[in-house]
Amino acid sequence: MSSCPGFQGRKPTPASFQGVNYSWLCHPDERKSCGACCGLYNYLDHSREALEGLLEARTLLFQRYPLTPEGLAAYKEEARGLHHSPPLCNEIARCEFLGFVDDERRRVGCLLHPALHGEDLRELSPYGRDLCAEHLCPSHQYLTEGERRLVAAVLDDWYLYGLVITDLDLVRESLKLVADRVGCMPSPEDLRRGAFKRALAEFFSLKEHWPFRDRRPRLGKYWFSRGEYRLDHPFDDPWDRLLCSLETDPSQWGQAMGFLQRRIERVVGAYLGEDDGLRPLG
Ligand code: SF4
Ligand code: SF4
Repeated sequence: MSSCPGFQGRKPTPASFQGVNYSWLCHPDERKSCGACCGLYNYLDHSREALEGLLEARTLLFQRYPLTPEGLAAYKEEARGLHHSPPLCNEIARCEFLGFVDDERRRVGCLLHPALHGEDLRELSPYGRDLCAEHLCPSHQYLTEGERRLVAAVLDDWYLYGLVITDLDLVRESLKLVADRVGCMPSPEDLRRGAFKRALAEFFSLKEHWPFRDRRPRLGKYWFSRGEYRLDHPFDDPWDRLLCSLETDPSQWGQAMGFLQRRIERVVGAYLGEDDGLRPLG
């Protein structure tokens, strides 16, 4: 049996994540991270509970295998059996090496990352080591620094953070609509006002708890049929784009629009100091 010199028997340790040059957007701080591009949400059932269970099972299983080529291949084979649900999209990989990378289970990340082992073990990646090492999703390019920092400062859990930070329409359109009403683009410094931070966090949490959700398999603006993705049509209106990002059922569009407008108004009110963010949401 061959081995990876120097790595046999070594296990990930949370401390080894300190000070490593990850993309800031992927691992903003100790309280959350994103794993969307490793296929985290590519399950018909991508509920928080289902993904939490999957990541936990993978993380525990990974610890039972040596970090040798044979050990990692055997882990990958067994981890395939942990997929709890069919994929939304057949073309997008669901990497078995995505797990939790801290003891607190607050950060999702690559179990083969060099930050954990001192050497890059991602040759077993579905994308290949180089692509894993170099990939930066469109949010790095198309969100402004201010937008990225706002989302990272407002959200504190991996599930919601990954859903929101990769949804360009949701972040850009919602913040633009607020900016249009308050006269300037909100900045991370504005979050010092607790009411505004609370209201924005509540708004982004709609991504997980949207009451007008489409029954079709969805992830953001895309819906899926037989493992292939579809887009109804590109919307020009920012409100429509937001409703699409939130996976709105087309038959409930009108009702959902009113609800969405009230939620944006609440963020505006909190920004302007007219709403303390404690009023029950309607
Ligand atoms: S989807 Fe983007 S932010 Fe998330 S882990 Fe991948 S590159 Fe990082
Ligand atoms: S091997 Fe690549 S695709 Fe798999 S979890 Fe690691 S970074 Fe993501």
